[in-house]
Amino acid sequence: MKSDSFRARPFGRCVTWSPSLTLVPTNGCFNACSYCSFRRIPGQEQVLEPAAAAAGLAARPEALEVLLLSGEVHPASQERPAWFARLLALSRLALASGRLPHTNAGPLSLREMAALGRLNPSLGLMLEGFGPAYDALHAHAPSKRLSVRLGQLEQAGRLGIPFTTGLLLGVGERRSERLEALEWLAALQRRWGHIQEVILQPWRPDGEQATPLSPGEQADLLGLISDARAILPPEVHLQTPPNLWPLSALPAALAAGIDDLGGIDTGDVINPAYPQPSSQALSAVLAEAGWQLTPRLCVHRGWWSWLPRPLAGQARVLASRLAAVG
Ligand code: SF4
Repeated sequence: MKSDSFRARPFGRCVTWSPSLTLVPTNGCFNACSYCSFRRIPGQEQVLEPAAAAAGLAARPEALEVLLLSGEVHPASQERPAWFARLLALSRLALASGRLPHTNAGPLSLREMAALGRLNPSLGLMLEGFGPAYDALHAHAPSKRLSVRLGQLEQAGRLGIPFTTGLLLGVGERRSERLEALEWLAALQRRWGHIQEVILQPWRPDGEQATPLSPGEQADLLGLISDARAILPPEVHLQTPPNLWPLSALPAALAAGIDDLGGIDTGDVINPAYPQPSSQALSAVLAEAGWQLTPRLCVHRGWWSWLPRPLAGQARVLASRLAAVG
């Protein structure tokens, strides 16, 4: 039988992060989530040209993960084929530059997801959450309907694609709704085994300046992290973005069950007012509290055996470079 300490910390005192570069294929999006300042309305979007993508890659040779984070194009839009072709081209560019792409571009058809899964060792899509608070935030975001998100997680499982999902927290949801969302994720994991990571992302207000989590908000989230660790199968990593927690409070989040800090770039395109700590700063704070910060690839090691052969080969090559990452 597993001990209680294993249940609370299945990954021991090791905390992982992924040296990452974020590329935004487009910030145009047909959804209109009420909290989003990333989105531009169609017609005013910025589209990433191949030369700019190549320059971004060249500027960050230490980033082994290329996060392709895109605004969404309506499934019936005439623009969709060109947008999707751009996602494939950027994935190939990332691979050709010796990195691994991880795409998060909203719901995908079965065919689209299968095609991206041949080039991306892992894909991502937030579940967001259950209940009326999310329904209100997403009243004008049809792709964020719960049935759509759950269908995507199911589809990724059927395709055998390692997957990162997560919950947006602190938007007025109830504890019972949080637990229900976690139970759904646990059931999906028990069925398919593909959920490598669940992000527990505190919602933070937009603005010129960061609004740090208050002690009350931290206490609330610590309880949720413990709940998540108890509900989700032990192989599922629990992530929180380190720029959304006060650095001094991060060890408490780890003690509650967080074991991963996600992809870390020099900035955060979704929450630009919240600066990313450097890996050196993180390492120093965590080491003082007895945690070891360790770099990883976008696909966690437990899912490498799931990868198509070319991606598995690239993962093995890149793993030998991880040791050199600070
Ligand atoms: S789907 Fe993403 S990019 Fe689009 S409006 Fe919502 S949060 Fe913003």
